[in-house]
Amino acid sequence: MTSLFPALTSGPADGPALRFGERSLTYGELAAAAGATAGHIRSARRVAVWATPTMETAVAVVAALLAGVPAVPLNPKSGGKELGHILSDSAPDLVLTAPDDQLPSPVGDLPRLDVDVHATGPVPEDHADEADPALVVYTSGTTGPPKGAVIPRRAIASTLDALADAWQWTGDDVLVHGLPLFHVHGLVLGTLGPLRRGGSVRHLGRFSTQGVARELTGGATMLFGVPTMYHRIAEAVTSDPELVKALTGARLLVSGSAALPVHDHGRIATATGRRVIERYGMTETLMNTSVRADGEARPGTVGVPLPGVELRLVEEDGSEVSAYDGETVGEIQVRGPNLFTEYLNRPDATAAAFTADGWFRTGDMAVRDPDGYVRIVGRKATDLIKSGGYKIGAGEIENALLEHPGVREAAVTGEPDPDLGERIVAWIVPADPQSPPALAELADHVAQRLAPHKRPRVVHHLNALPRNDMGKIMKRALTHE
Ligand code: ATP
Ligand code: MG
Repeated sequence: MTSLFPALTSGPADGPALRFGERSLTYGELAAAAGATAGHIRSARRVAVWATPTMETAVAVVAALLAGVPAVPLNPKSGGKELGHILSDSAPDLVLTAPDDQLPSPVGDLPRLDVDVHATGPVPEDHADEADPALVVYTSGTTGPPKGAVIPRRAIASTLDALADAWQWTGDDVLVHGLPLFHVHGLVLGTLGPLRRGGSVRHLGRFSTQGVARELTGGATMLFGVPTMYHRIAEAVTSDPELVKALTGARLLVSGSAALPVHDHGRIATATGRRVIERYGMTETLMNTSVRADGEARPGTVGVPLPGVELRLVEEDGSEVSAYDGETVGEIQVRGPNLFTEYLNRPDATAAAFTADGWFRTGDMAVRDPDGYVRIVGRKATDLIKSGGYKIGAGEIENALLEHPGVREAAVTGEPDPDLGERIVAWIVPADPQSPPALAELADHVAQRLAPHKRPRVVHHLNALPRNDMGKIMKRALTHE
């Protein structure tokens, strides 16, 4: 297989590659630093990376890919129990760190190698096969304990090249983001993506709307974020003309990892004239669909299958949904070079995840518009409510609730009901905690916008929704309280 990062060895050595805060590396410096680290880890079977949002993490992962040693990014905010599970599951030989990292106990017990971003070493020759494991990334743990997805080199190359096609992403692009580096979004798309194109990335360290405005004004062309970041942007655009100007001038604003509420999409579009485009992916599949840079950014949709990705919707009886009618719900199944190979040490889970003919069951339910755009209605496990003979997606009710001025955040779940099978439950963070909107008012609001059978029957008021570190709503935590 050809190199994952041709620009490391054959591009202009003085071109910018990575910037984290005040620190930056050119392609020449990155090649030297990653080459040096690669030389130290060549005989390892697997390495862990203490994935803080730093230059060291980026260099460590590039080094592991150059050395052909699978890397396991660790979330530094994980608790000891989760880290213990990931370490015993993935059994790394050592952990790559930044010199000033303090490691908690299960990680601190591993041999450690501090990455020196100023070291120099040769880029090793690339003998890796496209099917070789490149990364073991643990899923976000939204629906259960995280599973280690083994991601081959082929998947990284094909997903990044498909996105380049969809987004007209080139080496001239400068990406800005503040995403964590232990998941696919910030690591594969947000770090390896620019490096594969020969462009550069500026990491904010910690996300802020001011940082986004500064970088987009100072030459960055693209922004990647999760919906909670776009929510903050949607709140800030009303009072921050610098941010509005910066967003207006950006080439591409991309959201992913969870559904972008239609309300926030609309507020950003109204203030800036720019439409955020959504893409849909998973740890196991990398990217499946996206709105194309030259396509229509339709709020509430995640666009069309990426080049090379086969996608189908399948009903409960196993039959394929043939109608693109915007109504018939099926589970998204995908096939293509973007897929993972297996869940580490989980042959049972791996087998259950694939159909006999090799389609991956995503567990996400969707409909397709007549022109093929995919609309995710939610996860099969938590977001599909069977009420009064209807199958109702939580997402559209959440979107409708968010249009109510008294609602700041919303999540919808189902709970058992003797008459309806399940009844719709709304979990609301009120805009004004002193006067939260009442159930009757919210129910009417939803019934008028969607349909009477989609109105919530119960409402709970909360101070905040339980979210994980990607900003995803942990519905498990709501319903198991
Ligand atoms: P776990 O599998 O451990 O429960 P997780 O599914 O949240 O956690 P990830 O692999 O990080 O872990 O997330 C993939 C999921 O995120 C998808 O299956 C989908 O439900 C959701 N998702 C990603 N992008 C989008 C999007 N643009 N719109 C709606 N949902 C999205
Ligand atoms: Mg998942």
